[in-house]
Amino acid sequence: MSIQEWKETIPQFSALCDMEEIFWVNPNKESVEEANRKVDYSMDDILDASKRLERFAPFIKMTFSDTEDTNGIIESFITEISDFKQYLTDLYDVEIPGKMYLKRDDSLPIAGTIKARGAIYEVLKHAEALALDNGLLESIKDDYTCFSSEEFHQFFSQYQIVVGTTGNLGISVGTMARALGFNVVIHMSVEAKEWKKAFLRERGVTVIEHNTNFTEAVNQGRQESLANPNSYFVDDEHSVDLFMGYTVGGLRLKTQLEDAGITVDKEHPLFVYLPCGIGGSPGGITFGLKQVFGDNVYCFFSEPAHMSSMLLGLMTQNYDKINVNDVNIEGKTVMDGLAVPQTSGFVAELMEHYFDGGFTVSEDASMHLLAKMYELEDIPLEPAALAGTPGPAKLHLSEEGQQFLKDNGLENISQNITHLAWATGGSMVPVEEMKEFIEAGKETY
Ligand SMILES: *Cc1c(COP(=O)(O)O)cnc(C)c1O
Repeated sequence: MSIQEWKETIPQFSALCDMEEIFWVNPNKESVEEANRKVDYSMDDILDASKRLERFAPFIKMTFSDTEDTNGIIESFITEISDFKQYLTDLYDVEIPGKMYLKRDDSLPIAGTIKARGAIYEVLKHAEALALDNGLLESIKDDYTCFSSEEFHQFFSQYQIVVGTTGNLGISVGTMARALGFNVVIHMSVEAKEWKKAFLRERGVTVIEHNTNFTEAVNQGRQESLANPNSYFVDDEHSVDLFMGYTVGGLRLKTQLEDAGITVDKEHPLFVYLPCGIGGSPGGITFGLKQVFGDNVYCFFSEPAHMSSMLLGLMTQNYDKINVNDVNIEGKTVMDGLAVPQTSGFVAELMEHYFDGGFTVSEDASMHLLAKMYELEDIPLEPAALAGTPGPAKLHLSEEGQQFLKDNGLENISQNITHLAWATGGSMVPVEEMKEFIEAGKETY
């Protein structure tokens, strides 16, 4: 189909191309039971990933002091944000029944962004496989604190790990891979912030700067890695391991909500709003949540209106065969963690029957909400991390959202909904830079 035909036949497609804020309900969503029949992955894979992270916990605890309190488990807490929710009500002039929480991946140990879930998992899995194949580990029952020994470091120093990134994936991969002793080469796209490059170089990472977008930086990294048999490429576009690392976040939320006395069942649904770049983190977490909570959890991903690659891929069902530039979307955004012009085909096709929908946020809205989140809740977030936060307002404000509540029999129990916006990064942003973000945000009031 041509772009013109899409504009004529797909609801809201024109608005998407015009970079307007939209709220989209996924017409291809199915029940979890149905969707599960079509994919190759299951709860067993999530549990396998979770167990691997537990095996490494003693090593992580002794290597990264900020994981001491959690015994080497890389996890974040949730915060109720009632003042911010009240502000959304005022700003968008819409009632938002129920409670609203923020998932604090902005404060994840080691790397301070959601990437610490997927990227660190993939590096650990690769290290474990190498250690087993080469006889350094006898079995997965060994004591994994040996990963901090000189012998292991020497061994891993023969190997290289490569990644292409807008910045945050590089921080997570680079920090863990260097801690294990790997050589690390990171290809940075044009969005990458100076402090992220400096942070990595201080840790002995080779940083290669590209004056091109994320998709190009990834291609460069992949080429370089392929040329070296001792090199491993963390592939944000295709990696199953990265995806599985993220799913564990969904699994662990269950206990966390139980501990906080928050019920999730048919009468008390959970609505989750996830910032989306290439799709791995919102996809993986949604997959995990759906396995845990079944049809009682509703998951929406959120993208910059200027970088709506997952929406473009899903609406047209062209997945990674279409790029924002193909429909003249500008492809520049302050939400640098989401600056991905072409989505992951692997994630888009896998998640097509699970995502409940998605929405877009303007550049100004992200900065405005950033400043307000700081002012009202004292939580400093990076621009990408705000993308999910207007979700509850968009749900109740848009015709599509209202219809969605009706179609799912939720219109009369909306006061029972728990809204959870996933905050995906912020704690590592230098103070000066955060001040500039907040000042820029205030200018949009
Ligand atoms: C990468 C990133 C995301 C999105 O994750 P994807 O796997 O790229 O979809 C969201 N927020 C921040 C801060 C990120 O760095």
